[in-house]
Amino acid sequence: MNIVLLGPPGSGKGTQGQLLAQTFGLVQLSTGDLFRQILQDPSHPLYDSLQVIKEGKLVSDEIVNAVVEDALIKLKDAKGVIFDGFPRTVAQAEALDRMLNSMGKKVEVVLDFDVTKDVLLHRLLGRRVCSSCKRVFHIKQGYTECPECQGQLTIREDDNEEVIIKRFGEYNQKSAGVKEYYLNADCAYIRLFVDDPDISAEEVNKWIIQELSKRGLVQ
Ligand code: ADP
Repeated sequence: MNIVLLGPPGSGKGTQGQLLAQTFGLVQLSTGDLFRQILQDPSHPLYDSLQVIKEGKLVSDEIVNAVVEDALIKLKDAKGVIFDGFPRTVAQAEALDRMLNSMGKKVEVVLDFDVTKDVLLHRLLGRRVCSSCKRVFHIKQGYTECPECQGQLTIREDDNEEVIIKRFGEYNQKSAGVKEYYLNADCAYIRLFVDDPDISAEEVNKWIIQELSKRGLVQ
């Protein structure tokens, strides 16, 4: 099963992607994580092209598609892939269909995270990420280190208010077309509305699994 997660920054798609990947034995492919990894290596050929990330702008479709294609080839034997942060434009959605088609696969499920702006800001400004296992936490949980692997908890460079506002703008501008693309595609489109800042990741995960089973997509 291949799943696309759509949603603005802070909507919880990364966290839900991790939970779904664990539950169903799928592989999560996060373009943001792939890019942040590349940005740690100044000698990487894409290092300069990826500097736009620090300003909250989108990376070009050409680069994103090439990075994803490369990653997908390595994942050809996976039971399924959860796409987190990709596609973000219609051109990327079309490219993903081409890549999957050529492997005899398709996007089966789209999860659209529709989360109010207040909830998004609250989450992003308090977000802490484990530098080692990449799990995501919130400052309100009070951890001084990752409770899973004791890694260091860090603040993402683009999680500051100015850059967050830009990322929202970019998302809103580009996402409408992607949503329409998938609403017209042959896949299950599941919309998740969140306006409660205190809803737990576990509650959201339960809801998603219920929706997937209602449609006969999981047992
Ligand atoms: P968020 O969803 O919180 O913005 P991500 O980790 O998904 O975070 O992405 C971080 C940044 O990486 C984005 O702001 C953007 O600059 C870049 N990026 C990630 N995925 C894509 C994509 N599919 N297309 C273009 N740029 C991307």
